Amino acid sequence: MPELPEVETIRAALSRELTGKKVKSVTVTNGKLTKRHKSVKEFRALLEGHTVKSLGRLGKNLIFALDSGNHLVVHLGMSGQLLRARSAKDPKPKHTHVVITFSPGGELRYVDPRMFGELFVSVAPPEGTKIDVSPYAKLAVGGDGVALRAKIPELADLGIDPVEDVVGWDRLAAILRDRMTPLKAILTDQHVICGIGNIYADEILYTAGLRFDRPAGSLSTIEVRRLHRSIGEVLAEAIKHGGSTLSDEQFVDPDGKPGNYQNFHHVYGREGEACPRCRSLVKKLTVRGRATYFCENCQA
Ligand SMILES: [Zn+2]
Repeated sequence: MPELPEVETIRAALSRELTGKKVKSVTVTNGKLTKRHKSVKEFRALLEGHTVKSLGRLGKNLIFALDSGNHLVVHLGMSGQLLRARSAKDPKPKHTHVVITFSPGGELRYVDPRMFGELFVSVAPPEGTKIDVSPYAKLAVGGDGVALRAKIPELADLGIDPVEDVVGWDRLAAILRDRMTPLKAILTDQHVICGIGNIYADEILYTAGLRFDRPAGSLSTIEVRRLHRSIGEVLAEAIKHGGSTLSDEQFVDPDGKPGNYQNFHHVYGREGEACPRCRSLVKKLTVRGRATYFCENCQA
């Protein structure tokens, strides 16, 4: 499943090209993907004729700000891809379910074989409406995340976005304190911290030298600081390398190119290989139905 670095890679690739372009027409061939709307017609009407002002991201959601004040939100689900094409004449990949045509020129195609993704236009709430923004997100001391959530009620309950929201280690310590929840469960709980999934949780915990099942409240100050630093470092490195493309080859950027960060994974997908730090073998366990990779020797 695409996580924060993959969605950020897509955002960066599309941002310059689509900003300032107008949505000319929208085709939806499977209404399941736009099911938040009464009808496909309603979804199309909220997009057509409107200009893209900017591209943003919160957690695993890609956000197109429109000149109407509304926002197109795209979530790739398990297997969604957003691919650009120069014109309608370019051959369409199998499982293309939504096509957005821009003026002047260019198309964006939403491709999704498994159809767990979704697209919707969030209508801006009337001015003065009180929106319950996530109390975790409100811990941010910088960034535009809180303001963005207030404009998109459907995303208001997303927790801290580790790239968009500026949150210091002391705030993270306050969140972890007094909790018995295992660390990996907290890192992947989108209501607490958004954007981190199975791959990056394992890589972050390895980098921080912490086991996935450590109760959150058991961390020392030094360990919290290490975890905080690892979250930032691992996500930044992954973005720099264009995200991770696993052997299923689901994630590609808008030009169909895979990411490169899988070559830098320390533990994820490396069961039985030598730990880069201590050379003991990387272990894999299935925890709550998800694969978890770690080094027993390096992660305490
Ligand atoms: Zn090790």
